[in-house]
Amino acid sequence: RITLENITKKFGDFTALDNINLKIEDREFMALLGPSGSGKSTILYTIAGIYKPTSGRIYFDDRDVTEVPPKDRNVGLVFQNWALYPHMTVYKNIAFPLELRKVPREEIEKKVKAAAKMLHIEGLLDRYPWQLSGGQQQRVAIARALVKEPDVLLLDEPLSNLDALLRIKVRAELKRLQKELGITTIYVTHDQAEALAMADRVAVIREGKILQVGTPDEVYYKPKYKFVGGFLGNPP
Ligand code: ATP
Ligand code: MG
Repeated sequence: RITLENITKKFGDFTALDNINLKIEDREFMALLGPSGSGKSTILYTIAGIYKPTSGRIYFDDRDVTEVPPKDRNVGLVFQNWALYPHMTVYKNIAFPLELRKVPREEIEKKVKAAAKMLHIEGLLDRYPWQLSGGQQQRVAIARALVKEPDVLLLDEPLSNLDALLRIKVRAELKRLQKELGITTIYVTHDQAEALAMADRVAVIREGKILQVGTPDEVYYKPKYKFVGGFLGNPP
């Protein structure tokens, strides 16, 4: 369980996150939905430990991780621009987090192959990122995040560069994988259909505030604010 308690994040005078309170349960798929600039990525980076909150606390179960550096949080993060290491093959890209941890070579090989298989990129391991399509690069980035067997998977607009058809396909695969592995997942998107289709619960964010948290049905049919209904495509 991840708990964000009164999280505020300021960049200079600008308040990017304004007293956020949110709990994500074990194995839950939580979507963060909101317009551009609302603070979605900032929430993920704060959970990952890349940003330190200006005030507030973050807990993983009962452990206060607010001061814990990113490498000790065991989160898998797929960035919005999902940059792969350009000078490394796909294999190396996926293996890299394990090499950092000094995992033995044979074990790395086993894990990389298993992750590649799950994401249907086994045939691409010897290629470099520039030799892949956008969708393939995307899967490599997800494999790299999964190979560490993270407690928490943080995905920032992971499908935004895919065409509509591939997007729906990868969406379904990702959802299946998440349930199969039982990884607590926070999924950032500004695509309402995607959030409603994939998530156990959706948190709707605007201007650094959480307006509403609920199941797809709740936020869609019982929006607490005009903005929520409007943004979800069910205006009053
Ligand atoms: P998008 O959908 O466009 O990715 P977002 O919801 O992810 O938007 P954030 O990236 O979290 O938005 O940014 C929230 C606000 O905080 C924006 O106004 C952004 O300019 C600002 N911001 C984010 N990171 C920084 C930073 N390092 N320094 C200053 N301002 C920042
Ligand atoms: Mg963002």
